[in-house]
Formats: sequence, C-alpha cells, structure tokens
Amino acid sequence: MSYLKAGNLERFSSIEHGFGTASSLWPEDIILMSQKHTNNVLIIEDEQGDYIPVADALLTSKPDKLLGVKTADCLPILLYNPVTKVVGVIHAGWRGLANMVILNTMDKLRTFYNADPGSTYFSIGPGICKNCYEVGMEVVDSINTAIAVKDAFRQTSKDQGLLDTRSIAERQIQAAGVPASNISHVNLCTRCSPGFYSYRAGSKERQVSYITIR
Ligand SMILES: [Zn+2]
Repeated sequence: MSYLKAGNLERFSSIEHGFGTASSLWPEDIILMSQKHTNNVLIIEDEQGDYIPVADALLTSKPDKLLGVKTADCLPILLYNPVTKVVGVIHAGWRGLANMVILNTMDKLRTFYNADPGSTYFSIGPGICKNCYEVGMEVVDSINTAIAVKDAFRQTSKDQGLLDTRSIAERQIQAAGVPASNISHVNLCTRCSPGFYSYRAGSKERQVSYITIR
C-alpha cells in the first residue's frame, strides 16, 4: 500500500484512510466528485449510481462507501467524527478556501449528523507548499474577504507573492470550532517533494486520497 497515513486518524481502528501519491493504485469502488472549487458538500447515504455530482466535499456514515478526493497541488483533507461515526473528504485549493468549503463541511456535519467540532479529527494531506505556490494579488484579495491571510502570504514582488494554503486551511478548521490538537498534517509538497503529481509542475494526472468506515 503506497498510501500515506495520518497519525490522528490511524489510531481509530473503525476507519481506513490514505493520502495518495503518484504511485498509489486507486481503490476499487471509490466515490469521486466532479470537483469545481465550490463549497458544495454532498451527503452520501444512498446509492449514487453512475452520476458524478459537482461537489468539493463528501460526508457519509455508511460503512460501504469509500469517499475519495483527487488532487495535484490543492489540499486533500480527510476527517472523522468518532462519536457519530461519520467520515468525510474535502478538496481545498485557494478557491475552495475562499468559498469556505471547510466551514461549510463542518456546518453540514453539525446540522445533518449532529456532530460536534470538538470531537472531530481533521488531517491535511500533501499539497503545494508555501515556498512553491506563487500567486497574484487578486488571489490574496479573494481569500482575504473570507479569512485574513496575514502571515500566510509573503509578497515577493509588486503584484505577486507566496501563499501558504496549508496554514489558511488549518486556521479555517479551527475557526469551525475544531481544537488545534485534533488537526494533523502530512506535510509534503506536491511540487518540491518527489513522487507526486503537481499541476503547477505541468502534470495532467491526479493522486487520490480516501477515507472509509470499516
Ligand atoms: Zn514546495
């Protein structure tokens, strides 16, 4: 198994998860989304058929559903609430962060499953790092309206700088009420660490990350 594991999720024997690399084989029967950098959260409790909905987050309490997220620089985020036994995946790039996909997902967890953020565990997977992710000021301005980027942005020229989406994602998870001690990182960069597909590096492929209830 060429999947990377998160310490705070691996200790739960009731779930199985993994962050994919370029060499990971995609699991069979994985449920994927048509990812469009939205804040759409889809609750998967019934049969989906062949329909692939536009969404950037999935939640389920069903043991036979294997939720997946494809990435190549954006952050794959996996979550688990052991009290309500709900798992989820989130696709979070800068647009998703600006669209508040994380807060929206925690909101659905709370309203649909009655899950408490205080007992929810998040792991942020491999994505482009703060030294590799050069963006224009319009990106910073877009995110800033959702959450202050402050120290997550380092200006390098008049209209460009380096953005730290990992730290913005972590702050948004905490803003949703999740304690910092419940959040873990697989702190690898899809662009400057070997073994990953990177959109910025010209890759058309995606790695896949997943989570499921045993
Ligand atoms: Zn990097």
